[in-house]
Amino acid sequence: MKKFADLDVRGKTVVIRQDLNVPMKDGAITNDKRIRAALPTIQMALDKGAGVIVLSHLGRPTEGEYAEEFSLQPIAQYIGTLLGKQVRLAKTIDAAKVQPGEVCLLDNIRFFKGEKKNDAALAERLAGLGDVYVMDAFGTAHRAQASTEGAVRKAAVACAGPLMVSEVEAFSKVLSNPDRPLAAIIGGAKVSSKLGVLTNLLEKVDILIVGGGIANTFLAANGVSVGKSLYEPDLIEEAKRIMAKAKEKGCQLPLPSDVVVAKALAEGAEHTVVEVSAIPDDMMILDIGPATEKAYEAVLAAAKTVVWNGPMGAFETEPFHKGTVALATALANSNAFVVVGGGDSVACVEKYHLAEKMGYISTGGGASLELLEGKVLPAIAALEDRS
Ligand code: ADP
Ligand code: MG
Repeated sequence: MKKFADLDVRGKTVVIRQDLNVPMKDGAITNDKRIRAALPTIQMALDKGAGVIVLSHLGRPTEGEYAEEFSLQPIAQYIGTLLGKQVRLAKTIDAAKVQPGEVCLLDNIRFFKGEKKNDAALAERLAGLGDVYVMDAFGTAHRAQASTEGAVRKAAVACAGPLMVSEVEAFSKVLSNPDRPLAAIIGGAKVSSKLGVLTNLLEKVDILIVGGGIANTFLAANGVSVGKSLYEPDLIEEAKRIMAKAKEKGCQLPLPSDVVVAKALAEGAEHTVVEVSAIPDDMMILDIGPATEKAYEAVLAAAKTVVWNGPMGAFETEPFHKGTVALATALANSNAFVVVGGGDSVACVEKYHLAEKMGYISTGGGASLELLEGKVLPAIAALEDRS
């Protein structure tokens, strides 16, 4: 991919597709992480002497219709405050114009007809807004839309922004040529949502750690009676196939030996640790137990590269956060290169202030999942074609 960092854009207009899709409540931004991740790219363009037009989506408005609740106005204001300069909001594509040193934000790209369908005419108009088109929205790189893929192909010059470059480099350290042993930790709610990831990673990893509802399905596949736990009977055969494949390949795939169970998933619920052979019929698994946590940690101690997607338990509800947090703490303190992807896993690592100690925290949930599934992301393919 051509990198924006390497380009001279003095006096030019740069169009940057970013992912500013932040959570909002009553018109206020409730988490500014994505804005903060995007800001250095805008600053880089300003430092290079360019004028900047920023594009982003926000939420899911009906395409072709303006709706105030999905307007980027609060985001323009917020970026302006962080940059210490005025950021104008353009309501139409024609109004998106800048002089060098200025920043303009085009309102929600999903207000414009043709974005979702990757309409060629819209892509061309967006690409034509500037001299250089910078694709930096990793979080939408898995969608072939006018601003994410089409414009990259139509632009006079197209390149990857620094955030996109960091994301791609972090995942390629895991997927292309990892320092071994390579471990994957796949947790979260459902095998069905991570089957592609499990299948693809099984081909690559030396260690596969499972947790959460996914581990429950694997336990059930081993004949464990999991009581009222979240698990997927339909995927037991898949789980068996994955375990057989791991064995054949010499990939370690330890399962929980003890678990935390409770009668209900509720804050402060009465809970107890049991061996997996003794899960009461009226209880559900909500976390890995302390012996499992230690065993997982011991296996992971050898790993030089780790990719983590999905929590070990229902971490949002204390006290069922303990297994996930203990494992995250061990990884944060290890020397392995650890990449964390997946919305909930990242939220957990951030909630417990462990993010700074990880190797890389991905900004893209769905996009990172597709990379781990071995898919080629359309925006990345377009950037590679334009390099
Ligand atoms: P990520 O967003 O990191 O990819 P997922 O979305 O796949 O992760 O799964 C996260 C969800 O799984 C969390 O909401 C968590 O509460 C839930 N979860 C994990 N373990 C369990 C469990 N044993 N029982 C019920 N829910 C669980
Ligand atoms: Mg999730």
